[in-house]
Formats: sequence, structure tokens, C-alpha cells
Amino acid sequence: MNHVAYEQWMLYVKNELPEQVRMEYDDHLYSCDDCLELYLQAVDEVETQLPILTNADDFTNSIMAQVAKTKKSNTKVAFYQKTAFHYTIAAAMTFLFMSSGVFQSITKYVDAVQEPTIEERKPSVTEGLVNKTFAFMDNMKNREANNNE
Ligand SMILES: [Zn+2]
Repeated sequence: MNHVAYEQWMLYVKNELPEQVRMEYDDHLYSCDDCLELYLQAVDEVETQLPILTNADDFTNSIMAQVAKTKKSNTKVAFYQKTAFHYTIAAAMTFLFMSSGVFQSITKYVDAVQEPTIEERKPSVTEGLVNKTFAFMDNMKNREANNNE
């Protein structure tokens, strides 16, 4: 197969090629470093053309749709789709962590450890769970001991 022109890679990235052509390009991409280079440039250019994200719900929905689509399709997944998928998941994870306040609570936890005297110390949920687990284990041990007698 001959090398693929940059314009063609642009179409490939935008998924605007017929299935047959797309699969040929897909195979070529695995075996040709020159075209891989062109393809990555095309990805860069298409990414800068993407609309700016304004609605978090739309963003989440589009990810879920993509996940569903990927799961459903038994056909060969294009190289760019795999890459875009992993990129999207990583972005989504970061976004979810940020919005769910996981990062914030970690910061708070670190503060609490560093300055335990400022606030009155309350038993945390984690502490309660740990205590319950220990109580449960003690219980098990006692039962075992009783059974052995
Ligand atoms: Zn090539």
C-alpha cells in the first residue's frame, strides 16, 4: 500500500472515510512510522478544532454514549478510536475527581493530620468502621475458641 496523504489522515481522524478505506489505513498505521507521524499531526489539528466544552452533563453523556458504543460494536475498533477512548476516560476520571471533591477531601484530611489540636477531635467514619471490624474479628476468634473447647 502507498503512503497516505495528510488530508486523508484528517478524514480518518474525523471518521469520514468509508469502512473499507478506514480499515486499510488502520493496517497501514501499524506498519508505517511515517504515516503514524502524519496521523498524530492530524489528531493534533482535529483536537484544536473541537468545540470548547461548556456543559458538564453533555460531556458526561457523550462519554457514556462512547462507552456503550465501544461495548456494543463487535467490529474492529480503529486505532484512533482506541486512543481517543483512553484519552477521554483519563479526562473524565480527572473531571469526576475534581467535581466530586475527592481532591478537596484529601487536602482536608492532610490538614487534619498536621494540626490535630485546632479542632476538637471527633471519631471519623473510617475509625468507626475499623473499630467495628476489630470487634467483629474478636468475636470470631472467641467463637472459634469456644468451639474448640
Ligand atoms: Zn505510510
